Amino acid sequence: MAKPLNLILVGAPGSGKGTQAQRLLEQHGLPQISTGDMLRQAQREGTALGLEAKGYMNAGQLVPDALMVNLIRERLAQPDAQKGFVLDGFPRTVAQAEALDGMLRTTGTELSAVVVMDVPDEAIVERITGRRSCKACSAVFHVRFSPPKQAGVCDRCGASALYQREDDTEDKVRVRLKAFADQTSQVIPYYQRQGLVTRLNGLGTPEDVYAAIVKAVGAGAKA
Ligand code: AMP
Repeated sequence: MAKPLNLILVGAPGSGKGTQAQRLLEQHGLPQISTGDMLRQAQREGTALGLEAKGYMNAGQLVPDALMVNLIRERLAQPDAQKGFVLDGFPRTVAQAEALDGMLRTTGTELSAVVVMDVPDEAIVERITGRRSCKACSAVFHVRFSPPKQAGVCDRCGASALYQREDDTEDKVRVRLKAFADQTSQVIPYYQRQGLVTRLNGLGTPEDVYAAIVKAVGAGAKA
């Protein structure tokens, strides 16, 4: 049996991680494990985690490592994650990467690749401030670059649930970019030391970027 594909997508907010993770789910059945989506879901459900995370998220800051590590530990233990996964938005600090390594070691799970998606800051700001997300299924649109067929309605699941995330405003994006530069970018050399990193230009069309990911990780020819 082919080895499971266990991928990590690393990139600034708005670099296209969520879009590419959704494609990998659709084309390869790899569960998209998006910590941002999980936290937003927890907020909607009003769980203790959701309440605790809310202030950090709305300010554009990172949620404390301990909360994130517990969340991902529970998620990776689910049956669907045993046949491969795509981590989208985790790890965001070296401490999270170290904790993840520890978890994977205990289950004998190997990472296949860490794909870094490079997009310049000004392109990120343009992408994020025009971004609209679906509250029901987390699909992502852009008011100019990939508008839904009908304003406010999700092309993917049909719900009238498109909204602008509270942290997708320009001032919050700048704070999130700083968190990426100060903290998350450190996970790149961490994984480079393990020989796992593939860097690619995230500025192309979603199709081009997807093709580059498939080529880099050898995920079959379904690009
Ligand atoms: P995202 O949807 O990936 O852009 O994440 C939205 C927000 O959720 C981030 O700005 C953080 O506040 C929080 N968040 C998501 N994943 C993590 C993580 N791995 N570590 C810390 N905070 C996170």
